[in-house]
Amino acid sequence: MGKVTGFLEVDRQDRKYRPAADRVRNYNEFLIELPEQTLRDQASRCMDCGIPFCHDVKGLKGCPVNNQIPDWNDLVYRGEWKEAIRDLHSTNNFPEFTGRVCPAPCEASCTLNITDSPVTIKSIECAIVDKAWKNGWIHPQKPANSTGKNIGIVGSGPAGMAAAQQLVRSGHEVHVYEKNQKIGGLLRYGIPDFKLDKSHIDRRVVQMSEEGVIFHTGIHVGVDLPVKKVIDSHDAIILAGGAEAPRNLPIQGRNFNGIHFAMDFLPQQNKRNGGEQSEFSEDILATGKNVVVIGGGDTGSDCIGTSIRQGAVSVTQLEIMPPPPSKENKLATWPNWPLKMRTSSSQEEGAEREFSVMTQSFEGDIDGNIKKLHCIKVDKDFKPISGSEFHIKADLVLIAMGFVSPSYDGMLEELNIDLDEKNNVLANTIDYKTSCSTVWTAGDMRRGQSLVVWAIREGRQCAHAVDKFLMGKSFLPR
Ligand SMILES: Cc1cc2nc3c(=O)[nH]c(=O)nc-3n(C[C@H](O)[C@H](O)[C@H](O)COP(=O)(O)OP(=O)(O)OC[C@H]3O[C@@H](n4cnc5c(N)ncnc54)[C@H](O)[C@@H]3O)c2cc1C
Repeated sequence: MGKVTGFLEVDRQDRKYRPAADRVRNYNEFLIELPEQTLRDQASRCMDCGIPFCHDVKGLKGCPVNNQIPDWNDLVYRGEWKEAIRDLHSTNNFPEFTGRVCPAPCEASCTLNITDSPVTIKSIECAIVDKAWKNGWIHPQKPANSTGKNIGIVGSGPAGMAAAQQLVRSGHEVHVYEKNQKIGGLLRYGIPDFKLDKSHIDRRVVQMSEEGVIFHTGIHVGVDLPVKKVIDSHDAIILAGGAEAPRNLPIQGRNFNGIHFAMDFLPQQNKRNGGEQSEFSEDILATGKNVVVIGGGDTGSDCIGTSIRQGAVSVTQLEIMPPPPSKENKLATWPNWPLKMRTSSSQEEGAEREFSVMTQSFEGDIDGNIKKLHCIKVDKDFKPISGSEFHIKADLVLIAMGFVSPSYDGMLEELNIDLDEKNNVLANTIDYKTSCSTVWTAGDMRRGQSLVVWAIREGRQCAHAVDKFLMGKSFLPR
């Protein structure tokens, strides 16, 4: 703790967004970096608490990758940025991803959040890694020796990437198989560019390739390549295929044209931005349309921001839950993640938000195109309130109601692998081992739909488990 009185002298100050009217004209990131002195002042607010709830080691609250937050806050306060990135990288392979898209459970757990003024941990994290890239301090870390062991990883999202980087640095030969044309999973094709510019992923792919990771893109394991072949050609494989099966809304009229899952819509725009040859059977665009987004989470927000940038006439977001309280009861919630009203940058750009709403049916025109949603208000037990029926005009409906499980067809089916009660791949967090011999799993495929930071944690921990299995012991952090 560099400055004992920092938290008493300095008020919280965080990154701001570029004005909505400017940022919706393109898909660029819009966070405005804090100046160096401001960052150092903000870091000085960290109290280095006796129990650092921000990186709770049990992983129940605070930072899931156990970032040593007080340590690097102190280093930033002192201007020791190079040491700060060394410390940050010791727990997180990709802080530039989490520094941009993490909801920051660390800030919810910060002791200063008791008075609603947590340390700006996420902005400081992002500044450390951005400065490190800018100053050329991040290099490939090639292993000194080869173990002669060979590992295959299916899926190149944050879980697969983190596992691959940990394992290649331990001297193993690592092959990553990805069905898409580019690496990154939902970082690449789900999260819009305005939240995470894809150059951040490209830079890591270059680093990892130089470290020795061999990427095989455009290969759908279980479809283009039998999973048995992958198993036979590696000493161990890790399944990091994410949770790709979307939750549907099978109500009357679901088949009208213009009703799509969020993940049919969002990847198209990311691919357009990334210059990927589009092989879509139909372009799904919000331009000139009244858009209704069903689902109030992150994915729903991304649909809003993308629709607005495409030039939607209106965007309405429907949420079945009642509006959460505007402020949490700290005594009941801190240091856990609180349920409270949050407004995302995309919602701020001009969406109408409706709570406690259930969609009962879709109505279309004679040509089979969606025209209206028939909705009803629900009470706190989600029971329809009679007489509260209403309808909303819609030319495009985006279903963003979350993901139920990994896709079973293909790879998992061929493996006949054991699943848990939610249909995720069954494995515990001690050894990440599945029911199939030499097969491990990590990330959303094991855990169910989650967060980037949890995927990185699982990738790292799974890498430790695989390394230990192959070598008898592992020096990789868990
Ligand atoms: C639209 C959207 C926005 C989100 N926004 C945020 C956010 O702001 N912050 C946050 O923390 N989290 C966010 N999330 C959640 C986060 O992206 C995921 O939790 C995280 O990416 C999971 O990582 P993963 O590596 O387990 O899986 P994924 O990122 O899903 O990667 C899995 C990869 O495996 C590949 N794959 C699957 N099966 C096969 C196969 N058989 N053969 C070859 N390849 C295969 C897929 O193509 C994919 O590339 C968002 C999710 C969505 C959908």
